[in-house]
Amino acid sequence: MTLPNTFPLSALPRRFLLASATALALLGSHAHAADKLPVTASFSILGDLVRVVGGERVAVTTLVGANEDAHVFEAKPSDAKTLLASRLVVLNGLGFEPWAGKLLKSSGYKGESVIAAKGVKARHMEEEKGHTGHAHEETDPHAWQNPNNVVLYVRNIAAGLSKVDAAGAASYQANAEAYVKELQALDAWAKAQIATIPAHTRKVITSHDAFGYFAAHYGVKFLAPQGVNTETEPSAKQVAQLIKQIQREKIRAVFVENMGNPKLIAQLSKDAGATLGASLYADALSAPDQPGATYLQMVRHNVAQLVAGMRLN
Ligand SMILES: [Zn+2]
Repeated sequence: MTLPNTFPLSALPRRFLLASATALALLGSHAHAADKLPVTASFSILGDLVRVVGGERVAVTTLVGANEDAHVFEAKPSDAKTLLASRLVVLNGLGFEPWAGKLLKSSGYKGESVIAAKGVKARHMEEEKGHTGHAHEETDPHAWQNPNNVVLYVRNIAAGLSKVDAAGAASYQANAEAYVKELQALDAWAKAQIATIPAHTRKVITSHDAFGYFAAHYGVKFLAPQGVNTETEPSAKQVAQLIKQIQREKIRAVFVENMGNPKLIAQLSKDAGATLGASLYADALSAPDQPGATYLQMVRHNVAQLVAGMRLN
């Protein structure tokens, strides 16, 4: 319906005014979003990278949101709709999204997809299977915890965007290369921060093994009761061994992660007599009003907290 210009708005019930304001806002945002390239990213960290590279040309939706755990994600029916409406899907790869193949297939999505970690030198680790007792090798998917790997991520994302939107190729490449400079500055800063801690005290406890790439790149030793996956709980024996190690190596730096269950690590730090530090951002960004709202903020926060924690070792 249209209102005559002279119609006094105050004569309308408040509920009606609110409803039409919402409808107009929805119409407005829809019209605006329609000329942008719809892209779906599997989780919040990738979502941020796609936003940076895509800039004004793209509208990004993330499946696994801020402070959520992608390892144990269960897709909703609306996620299939989101995928179908996309022109590009961006995944981490390296086994991080075991649910993605099934979801892509069941949604009927036929478009392009990008594996952001393509070309990364993958880390593999021996995972001890608590109840069966035999070890198997697992790929560590958390490659984004080394900013040098994220250089590859953003270049892969730029190539994927250019494939579905050739007119934006120059813009995507320029955005990616400007961000690469920020990643290099971030890396140099992180190295300098960690260099203030003597090498033999660079030891940290976290909930799950999300920092293998960070550890290898910056020379920090991480110990975690959960493996590279959050799906399996550690056995009582594994937890007891870790407590002994914390005490033996006099580790004071114990951290929880922003996604998942912090109870296990809280109990562990209590049993081992260590102080619990701030949350680290492992597999997800924070909400916008928290200190890890973007990838760059996330790494800065993590490094600052880790360095403060390791100073106590
Ligand atoms: Zn993880």
